[in-house]
Amino acid sequence: MSRGCLFVISAPSGAGKTTLLKKILADTPGISFSVSHTTRAPRPGERHGVDYRFIKRDDFLRLRDDGAFLEWAEVHGNFYGTSRLAVEQTLQQSEDVLLDIDVQGARQVREQNELSAVFLFIAPPSGAILEQRLRDRNSDKPQVIAQRLANAEREMAEAAWYDFLVVNDVLAEALALLRAIITAERCRRRRQPNGTPWPPYAP
Ligand code: 5GP
Repeated sequence: MSRGCLFVISAPSGAGKTTLLKKILADTPGISFSVSHTTRAPRPGERHGVDYRFIKRDDFLRLRDDGAFLEWAEVHGNFYGTSRLAVEQTLQQSEDVLLDIDVQGARQVREQNELSAVFLFIAPPSGAILEQRLRDRNSDKPQVIAQRLANAEREMAEAAWYDFLVVNDVLAEALALLRAIITAERCRRRRQPNGTPWPPYAP
C-alpha cells in the first residue's frame, strides 16, 4: 500500500480558498481535511471538530510544547496548529491529506523533506478584488480587514516558492485546475508502490 499524499494549500484570506476546498473535499474520494487547532473564536456556523478544534490559549501552548504540532503559527493574532498524529495516521492509511495553512506553517512543512508534501497557492486575481471579497464576506470588522489586506501583500510574495499557483477568478475554472493538480500528483511514478502499478518483472 502506498502512503497518502500531503497537499498543503495556502492563500491570502478572501482568495476563495475555503469555498474551493469544501468543493474538492465533497467530491474527491481518498482525501481528508486536516482539522487544525486554533485559539480564535468560532465564526457563525463554524463547528468544533469540523472546521477547527477551538481550544484555549493555554491548551494550545501546552500541545505545542509537547511537540503535538507538525507545524504551528500565529496568524492575525491567533494561534493555529496541525496535529502531527492525525496527519501521520491518515497518510499511513493511504489517504491523502489536505492542509489549509498559512505561509509560515507551509515553510515549516517544507523543511520536513520526509513528508514529500506538494505546495499549492491560491491567489485572488487582484488586490482590489481581494478587498471587495473581504468586505462582501461581512464577517470581519474594518480593522481586521485592513490587517488581512496588509498580510495578503506579504503572503503573495511567498507564492514564488510554491509548486503550483492557481488564480481564483472564475470558481469553476480554479476548481478544475485544483482537481487536475491532485490527479497529476497521484499519478507520479514515485508515489506508486514500487514506482509502478504493476508487479516488477523478474529478471
Ligand atoms: P481563518 O481564521 O480565516 O480560518 O484562517 C486564517 C489563516 O490561518 C488562514 O490563512 C489559514 O490557512 C490559516 N490556518 C488555518 N489553520 C492553520 C494551521 O493549522 N496552521 C497554520 N500555520 N495556519 C493555519
